[in-house]
Amino acid sequence: MGIAVVVGGGCSGVLATRELLRTGWHVVMVDPGARPGRGLAYSTAAPWHLLNSPAAAMSADPDQPEDFLRWCRQRDPRTGPADFVPRSWYGDYLTEVLRAADETAQGRLTVQRGRVARIFEPSGGGGPLTVLLTDDVVIPADRVVLALGHPAPSAPARLDAAAARSGAYVADPWRAGALDGLPEGPILLIGTGLTAVDVALTLADAGRHDLLAVSRHGLFPQPHRRPGTAAAASAQAATVAALPELLAAGSVAGVLRSLRRLAADTGDWRAVLDALRPHWDALWQSLPEPGQHRFLRHLARYWEVHRHRMAPAVADSITALRESGSLRVRAAELCGIEAADEGVRVVLRERHGGAITAPTFAAVVNCTGPGRLVESDPLVRALVAEGMARPGPYRLGLDTDAHGALLRRDGSAHPALWTLGPTRRGVLWETTAAPEIRTQARGLAVALGDAGDRAPVVECVES
Ligand SMILES: Cc1cc2nc3c(=O)[nH]c(=O)nc-3n(C[C@H](O)[C@H](O)[C@H](O)COP(=O)(O)OP(=O)(O)OC[C@H]3O[C@@H](n4cnc5c(N)ncnc54)[C@H](O)[C@@H]3O)c2cc1C
Repeated sequence: MGIAVVVGGGCSGVLATRELLRTGWHVVMVDPGARPGRGLAYSTAAPWHLLNSPAAAMSADPDQPEDFLRWCRQRDPRTGPADFVPRSWYGDYLTEVLRAADETAQGRLTVQRGRVARIFEPSGGGGPLTVLLTDDVVIPADRVVLALGHPAPSAPARLDAAAARSGAYVADPWRAGALDGLPEGPILLIGTGLTAVDVALTLADAGRHDLLAVSRHGLFPQPHRRPGTAAAASAQAATVAALPELLAAGSVAGVLRSLRRLAADTGDWRAVLDALRPHWDALWQSLPEPGQHRFLRHLARYWEVHRHRMAPAVADSITALRESGSLRVRAAELCGIEAADEGVRVVLRERHGGAITAPTFAAVVNCTGPGRLVESDPLVRALVAEGMARPGPYRLGLDTDAHGALLRRDGSAHPALWTLGPTRRGVLWETTAAPEIRTQARGLAVALGDAGDRAPVVECVES
């Protein structure tokens, strides 16, 4: 029986593990966390951190789209398909998915706590890879699946070293306890995306009511609509009918024109975007490189705020914070972050009008979201340096073939190294949410094929 090592125990790791166990592999899942199955997004215990997708969209099983909804109804029978339940529920669900897969696989799953430092291939090719953990545990592997998730946020370009070292700067709000005990006074959130939304709600709950969120466009995510309507169904049908035209547009301007027309004709831009979701990667890949560049430079932010929306209840809380003045939002460019006597001085240039101000904050929280995988992740850096992997388009993630096999420096598909989820950003555009990840996990397991009959015992050998 072949051995697949899955590096990472978040949503991508669990869904890949489940699919690989189904096709007969012996899986060693490696993750540093005490509670594998949750990863970054679903480890939160805060009840106000809701899923940003409705329950009906979040099944782990491509064959049973209602699986998560059914699971939710065991917890609360009133849960409807369009409800946005706490993210911690999804963490519990993924833990249960992993447990059930383990039970069915009868001893073919090993969960190893640790962090993978390096992956070596035998000189001359052929034979198993060697997976080395930071604590010197060594695992031989016929296949390795990287399910590394999101890299930590990148530091803002104008961050002064003294400010970065000061206790007033939070580099990664997702680190456990990162928002606890911030100094009294106004707090700046850098970014206005879903991370800023989570951070604002957490800080407000802790009694902090002097929050300023700043980004170049000053745009917060749009809210989801409350439950669907017949009009939404017809808007979705109109969008699907227009797909050939969208795919043939060949330019960002052409795609935009068609989208605007569809939104105007149907009166429901949300339904238009939702209907496009399964086709967005084909649309992304239909754009020539200059068009993709133009999209990244000018439109990605607008796409994000319309496509990755807030749950209605979360949107209501954010509106209430803004109306009460607890949370202010500004469109401004960050020109400097410097240590000051009391906190951090931040130089801001207003987007409209260009006025420069330099207020002081008691604390600054980096809410810019995931950083750059290829630059920041030591395992990925090593794989790229050794030519076993190469950066993908625009260095947003790793380059892969259509099924998720890593492309080596010379462009050939690595037979034993695979990935899924956020690490495929760039090759794919929509690759971070559960519905896309479960499809990738199934595709990856099919492409890897049956596990074969090699039968070494999986052993984690202390070197
Ligand atoms: C705050 C937030 C909210 C979100 N909400 C939703 C939502 O409501 N609906 C939705 O569909 N999507 C949501 N997403 C998208 C989310 O990215 C995916 O749903 C999914 O959680 C991604 O899972 P992942 O396993 O790829 O990454 P992660 O959850 O980041 O997990 C990666 C795991 O790999 C481990 N790891 C990394 N490097 C190594 C290494 N070298 N060795 C061993 N282990 C390693 C990490 O420790 C981590 O446990 C949200 C994302 C965020 C950040």
